[in-house]
Amino acid sequence: MKKYVYLFLPKSAEGSNKMSHLLGGKGANLAEMCNLAIPVPPGFTISTEVCTYYMKHKKYPPGLKKQVNNALQKIEKTIGKKFGNHKNPLLLSVRSGARKSMPGMMETVLNIGLTSKTIPGLISQTTKPHFVYDSYRRLLMMYADVVMETTFGNYNIRLKMEKLLDRIKKKQKYKRDNQLTNEELIILCNDFEKLIIKNFNASFPNKPEEQLWGAIKAVLQSWNGKRAIEYRNIENIPHDWGTAVNVQCMVFGNMGNDSATGVAFTRNPSTGENKFFGEWLRNAQGEDVVAGIRTPKPISNNSSNDLEHQMPSIYNKLHTIQKKLESHYNEMQDIEFTIENNQLWLLQTRKGKRNGFASIKIAIDMLKEKKMNQKTMLQKIQPKHINEILLPTINYHQQKNLKAIAAGLPAGPGCATGQVVFDPETAEKFVQNGKPVILVREETSPEDVQGMFVSNAILTSKGGMTSHAALVARGWGKCCIVGCNTISIDEKNKKFKIDKIEILEGEWITLDGSQGYIYYGKIKLTKPSITKNTLLNDLLNIINKNQKTVVRTNAESNKDAKTALALGASGIGLCRTEHMFFKPNRISAMREMILADNQADRKQAIMKLLPYQKRDFYKILKVMNGRPVTIRLLDPPLHEFLPIKDIQIINLAKRMNVTKKKLQQIIENLQESNPMLGHRGCRLGITYPEITEMQVQAIGQATIQLIKEGLKPNPEIMIPLIGSLGEFINQKNIIHSALKSVFANNQIKKYPIKIGTMIELPRACLIADKIAEHADFLSFGTNDLTQTTFGFSRDDIGSFLPKYIEQNIIANDPFQTLDQQGVGALIQIAIQKARLINPNIKIGICGEHGGDPESIKFLIGAGVDYVSCSPYRVPIAKLTLAQNN
Ligand code: PEP
Ligand code: MG
Repeated sequence: MKKYVYLFLPKSAEGSNKMSHLLGGKGANLAEMCNLAIPVPPGFTISTEVCTYYMKHKKYPPGLKKQVNNALQKIEKTIGKKFGNHKNPLLLSVRSGARKSMPGMMETVLNIGLTSKTIPGLISQTTKPHFVYDSYRRLLMMYADVVMETTFGNYNIRLKMEKLLDRIKKKQKYKRDNQLTNEELIILCNDFEKLIIKNFNASFPNKPEEQLWGAIKAVLQSWNGKRAIEYRNIENIPHDWGTAVNVQCMVFGNMGNDSATGVAFTRNPSTGENKFFGEWLRNAQGEDVVAGIRTPKPISNNSSNDLEHQMPSIYNKLHTIQKKLESHYNEMQDIEFTIENNQLWLLQTRKGKRNGFASIKIAIDMLKEKKMNQKTMLQKIQPKHINEILLPTINYHQQKNLKAIAAGLPAGPGCATGQVVFDPETAEKFVQNGKPVILVREETSPEDVQGMFVSNAILTSKGGMTSHAALVARGWGKCCIVGCNTISIDEKNKKFKIDKIEILEGEWITLDGSQGYIYYGKIKLTKPSITKNTLLNDLLNIINKNQKTVVRTNAESNKDAKTALALGASGIGLCRTEHMFFKPNRISAMREMILADNQADRKQAIMKLLPYQKRDFYKILKVMNGRPVTIRLLDPPLHEFLPIKDIQIINLAKRMNVTKKKLQQIIENLQESNPMLGHRGCRLGITYPEITEMQVQAIGQATIQLIKEGLKPNPEIMIPLIGSLGEFINQKNIIHSALKSVFANNQIKKYPIKIGTMIELPRACLIADKIAEHADFLSFGTNDLTQTTFGFSRDDIGSFLPKYIEQNIIANDPFQTLDQQGVGALIQIAIQKARLINPNIKIGICGEHGGDPESIKFLIGAGVDYVSCSPYRVPIAKLTLAQNN
């Protein structure tokens, strides 16, 4: 019979952490902890195969019940209690556990096994009726909410039960749930039982087995719950993995003052600091910490109420275990523990979620601590972590008088500004209308995940650093502040109050999620300094070692060029010169050039642009001194330069001394049906050679000036959109003679300036050998190459792409991630052909794909010498190269 159930008992388990595909992350790690002799309440894991079977057949696989019963007997033997026994009852927890953590997305039921018969038994055994009734009311709440709602439909039962609880608390003026007396708890449990019958027309099962199987079924079904599916879509988790189910002996953190529960990280998940970090609550069950119902205390912060001072021997044990776990996994761990009557139990360990800053810091620290080698360390860093450390912040030096209106716990990094909303649905509506939002809530729950995702930031009034909002936001690298208990939220009337300030839905606030400050209004955010970013520089130093393929940047201003240099770029791979033509004081000369009706006038008009272009090139070549700067000749369709507004046409006609009508006619003649396939790229330089001549003269003159200043300018001239060898030769000749005359005029005999082309058309790929005979370098323009290979317009793909992806016709947007089968194959052919003729030809890529990690991996394999991408993607590209070295 196939094995579906895996036991984990003290010091021996049938599974291990290598089996997460079968046991899920939680089950695999529970087994591993048992094997490491760490105290874990005994239990067993029902494998993910049961979930996939159940999803397919809507029933359990044959033999499962028997395997579960056998495992249960073994636990009973180990722990010396019996499930359902009236005198010495064993209680169980049933929890989900997917291969990859999906915090709070699936179900959990605790305290299973409490019935009218076991309750008195447990009371006489523990002599703690309060604890027993408190556990029973939790079981009733969870079971009704999780199990019975799945079977009988959604009646908002949890909310109704919470109202009953609140009513007693209000009446007796209690602040906390655990202030309820035994009598009040008994009344509450009775009311819960009645409410269950009233809502579901069925009573709470009074048989332990029925409770257990109800919980197992609900956990399995929660894999396909709405919020779990949404989460998997966001996190790219395959829907066919299924969840495991962990059935485990209960231990109680709510058994009195010698009991407690907590969550901890082996290092600080916000700052990366190598210091044990966490939160705990005395006399509570685990859900109280995560749900943010009570604000927990720190584990160790040198205060009298931290765990270290309150329960020193337990703290020491926990400290030893966390050290053991981190070094065993070689990874920062997130652990859950419970203390029952002064005995410590570990309920979970898993890879700790952390923000980008902490991820990079921990990886670098562990490398320094010799806990891992450089290769492993690099695999721990993801592109999004680098994005995060370049997140916007508030410039406190420039904005000295800022006064925070409130403060909370800094749970998610960076700063964000947005309009206040109070529920996830409104968040989505605002964002659909182009309004950035900040979601303000008392606490978040897994149902809110979509609304949280679209928000710029999240602010909660309750909960700690391990609350749902904090965990989820940190995982996404989203700005988040939790536990801001000075604000009171009135969700119904869509407003919140801080002292006397009232903030309504739609008003702007700004959060500093790294420090926990909340500001009123829309505050200007700035990108962080790159040069003073020690963490980034440490990372770049590591990445920079042994890079064969280099990273250049796409930049046309010296500001961008400087940024890219600081981020590690080794040159410019694409300088799009058209951006320089669109500036207001230049466009009129351009327009005159296009509209001139003879060559002399045309030349005269274009020459007005020469000084501007020269200055542009001078600045950028100077910043990049010595490093290559690939300057691409003018590319976009001509009509893009022409006036559209009536007033612009009238003014231009006056200046050019032509009638408005004539000008309109010329403009009309220049319109094209398919501008992307029209009069653009090298076709412009061929029909208007004076454009090429002027641009090359400007490059030449800037170069000469820099040489005279003792610098080493290194321009490369790139011809766009070549489809035939003839086009390339035509432009190359013009470039040659223009350069020759500029240098001759300055008594410079020869200066090496490379001339190459972009490969952006399928035909160019197929004749790359012929082009390579005459070109010094090739650079794949994968934006146009994708456009022309698929025949998808790069500007209009949005109208049909979502349907293509939804129906699995294509996996990704091919303009973001390179289509390896089609466009990639053309690139491979072109590289092979070009290198056969000209083995040393330099080959690069400068389309958007140059900054996309998946595409970069493919391009390295295809044999490019460099990738070029926008400045802020440079370190990401460098990381990808280092990871794939
Ligand atoms: C390209 O086509 O990939 C490219 C870099 O050029 P542009 O995006 O300017 O057309
Ligand atoms: Mg292009």
